[in-house]
Amino acid sequence: MFDDLLKRLGLGPVESGACHERWIEDPGGEEIESFNPADGKSLGRVKLANGAVYDEVVGRAVEAFAGWRMTPGPHRGEVVRKIGEALRERKADLGMLITLETGKIRSEGEGEVQEMIDMADFSVGLSRQLYGLTIASERPRHRMMEQWHPLGPIGVITAFNFPAAVWAWNAMVAAVCGDTVVWKPSPLAPLTAIAVQKIVAKVAEEEGFPGVFNLCLGSIEDVGEPMLNDRRLPLISATGSCRLGYHVAEVVGRRLGRTILELGGNNAVIVAPSADLDLAIRGIAFAAVGTAGQRCTTARRLIVHESLYEAVVDRLARAYRTLPIGNPWDDGVLVGPLIHEQAVEAMTDALRRATEQGGEVVVGGKRLDRPGCFVEPALVRAKPGMAIVGEETFAPILYAIPYRTLDEAIAIQNEVEQGLTSAIFTRDLLEAERFLSPEGSDCGIANVNIGTSGAEIGGAFGGEKATGGGREAGSDSWKAYMRRQTCTINYGRQLPLAQGVRFDVG
Ligand code: NAD
Repeated sequence: MFDDLLKRLGLGPVESGACHERWIEDPGGEEIESFNPADGKSLGRVKLANGAVYDEVVGRAVEAFAGWRMTPGPHRGEVVRKIGEALRERKADLGMLITLETGKIRSEGEGEVQEMIDMADFSVGLSRQLYGLTIASERPRHRMMEQWHPLGPIGVITAFNFPAAVWAWNAMVAAVCGDTVVWKPSPLAPLTAIAVQKIVAKVAEEEGFPGVFNLCLGSIEDVGEPMLNDRRLPLISATGSCRLGYHVAEVVGRRLGRTILELGGNNAVIVAPSADLDLAIRGIAFAAVGTAGQRCTTARRLIVHESLYEAVVDRLARAYRTLPIGNPWDDGVLVGPLIHEQAVEAMTDALRRATEQGGEVVVGGKRLDRPGCFVEPALVRAKPGMAIVGEETFAPILYAIPYRTLDEAIAIQNEVEQGLTSAIFTRDLLEAERFLSPEGSDCGIANVNIGTSGAEIGGAFGGEKATGGGREAGSDSWKAYMRRQTCTINYGRQLPLAQGVRFDVG
């Protein structure tokens, strides 16, 4: 049914998962299959890289770095601009492939490609703005300055739920910064990664820079762990579960490598007494059930003032009952499938535990009687302190918790292990400002009258605490991909020392 689409993206029935300056036809590892979670059918097979091929790919990324780092930033930006153009041309097809592999609806699949294009545009501008400071020196006829140099080949590990955009957040910025990139995508969305690599590698080669963008799909043993331990990769940017992040921090930290960690979220929306409920219900619904609850920014907790609790739960329950669930490529559908059987089981198990801990499922939670991993998003009445509410179950479950005072709401919001995104719906300026103040939300992202998901690329994206502390995409996130050098230049004939130290010899 989707054969033509796959062909247009250059994908055959069996693809190689390894590419440096050229595709490696037989990368020596096992074959894996990519499945469409909406119907369980195979989309294609992928040959993984073995350990020797991993070694070769990183070796080539090291070689390519030598030339790329000396290419002027704006010239690197020009290559990225052409990649953005190539992605624009393939937006519909690539978006549809993302829909097929991850189950996200069409507009979200295409939205993910738009995010890549936006990252390309942002990075082109950035390629002329990799500024350092000039600093006043305390010594006569001395000048101090900071400059930013490329760091090296960067290892990028991505999660299944944003199989293309997360790579772009990293790779586009890293590339204009003068770094080369080695990408290990999720084995749950390998074809998206291969299709992206085909588009990007072609442009890079045409522009005379093969080997800047590299792909290495492989097992944890052959590729994942070697990346974490590889001193040739000075920075590992890893996106995934908190469990992954604890491990990456430890292994990369042992060699004093750098990390950017983008991990799990357990995001909350506070609905205050003055909230515009029409706005709030729409914002909450998109944040809680969009992408079938499989965004790191999904709203998982709803903290509602007790005066509105029943009204908000009722209105949301009504909205949940009319949610169009179905094939994510069909017009009008808003909720697609979960990624696999284990995700359905995790959701069922979480709802069982929620009930045991005193929660009440108001609506949803059932598996649909049809092929594929479809579930009804669930809304659960919950109380503060229920253990399950502290966990990120990667599925559409929203726990609604009542509160009395804003202090209490903020305390509930901040009590979980993760610190990614947060939101408040209020028309009270004082409440909004308190929420954004140092004694308010402890998250990397805090929104007023907007839900928790759907961030723009212009801001730095990421979260605190067990979300890992990393920042990617916009603002000054680029600094993590470069090394800072402080330079002092003496243009006089004396050698004064800092802090008045004297050391006269000869
Ligand atoms: P996951 O942790 O299962 O896997 C993420 C990636 O890590 C995959 O590529 C996987 O193969 C790789 N990996 C696993 N073990 C490894 C090891 N030992 N060494 C090297 N690589 C290893 O996550 P997932 O199920 O694919 O994605 C969902 C999770 O990702 C959720 O927790 C979600 O919140 C999080 N996420 C976070 C962000 C963010 O920006 N904060 C964005 C998207 C997803």
